[in-house]
Amino acid sequence: VAKHEGLSSTKFYEHSYDDYAFEDQWFHMNLKQALEHNEFCMYYQPQVNIETMEVTGLEALIRWNHPSKGQISPQKFIPFAEVTGLIVPLGDWILRQAVEQILVLEHNGYDDVRISVNISPEQFKHPAFIDTLTAILSERSVSPSKLRLEITETMAIDHESAVIARLHKLDEMGVTVALDDFGTGYSSLKYLSLFPIHCLKIDRSFIDDITSNVKNEAIVRSIIDLADNLQLEVVAEGVESKEVLHHLQQLGNQTIQGYYFSKPMPTDQLLPWMESFAKS
Ligand code: C2E
Ligand code: MG
Ligand code: MG
Ligand code: MG
Repeated sequence: VAKHEGLSSTKFYEHSYDDYAFEDQWFHMNLKQALEHNEFCMYYQPQVNIETMEVTGLEALIRWNHPSKGQISPQKFIPFAEVTGLIVPLGDWILRQAVEQILVLEHNGYDDVRISVNISPEQFKHPAFIDTLTAILSERSVSPSKLRLEITETMAIDHESAVIARLHKLDEMGVTVALDDFGTGYSSLKYLSLFPIHCLKIDRSFIDDITSNVKNEAIVRSIIDLADNLQLEVVAEGVESKEVLHHLQQLGNQTIQGYYFSKPMPTDQLLPWMESFAKS
């Protein structure tokens, strides 16, 4: 029983080796099947420009609905998908879902809404990544500018020049890139100067207590200035309250993502939400 509880615990890396080995095996066996059995689905969370009060983007976030264990967090299963290599076919599936969702948005008149997709390092570094991405977009005649990739700087640790070359290729294609969890990496500034990127996503850990933590407030203020000087967009993630939103507004932040506007939603709730948001 204790071992099964490990699957739903958020801190499973602190478990004993036995628990780890058990979970490892469990994920190995179940992840591949999950893709075959269609147990994954995508949720979407709005990114709102608070000056115009328009939805400018949606972040695609994967969910796994296991038949007996219920919903399992991506924070838990993505690392296993990465070590097993399943992240490559799974990542392609995610990109296809996002592209279909872009078409749904276009058919409903949302022509200026971009979809952001999280890309794992292993997926990004795969030799076929750019070709696959190009094929997925062109098969459905979707403009590359409708897609944004969210990457983290950790992916450059071993393959810096290959990563930079790939980012330039994406830039040429017209696919924009956001640096996710910005501020939590180990050499953010170096990558800001080396990477051709378009957007910084300020990590939730700096945003949470911005109204009471003067250090985090100073950090966020500096990131907004930095982005402004580099002509990058900024998205503040994890905004849960009006107070935090107003504080960010005072600091000049334009784009907000967080529970304050909406939690990530399944596709059947997305269009109704967008419609009622536009009217409010
Ligand atoms: P991330 O890309 O930084 O995604 C943001 C996470 O913050 C999401 O968690 C989202 O639900 C959560 N979040 C958004 N607003 C708020 C808020 O106001 N308060 C709080 N407490 N949380 C908020 P989620 O969906 O559990 O995803 C966790 C991480 O798993 C993601 O972090 C990303 O690293 C990874 N992930 C999720 N979906 C995918 C995917 O399709 N592919 C890959 N490679 N990774 C994914
Ligand atoms: Mg993200
Ligand atoms: Mg993030
Ligand atoms: Mg993250």
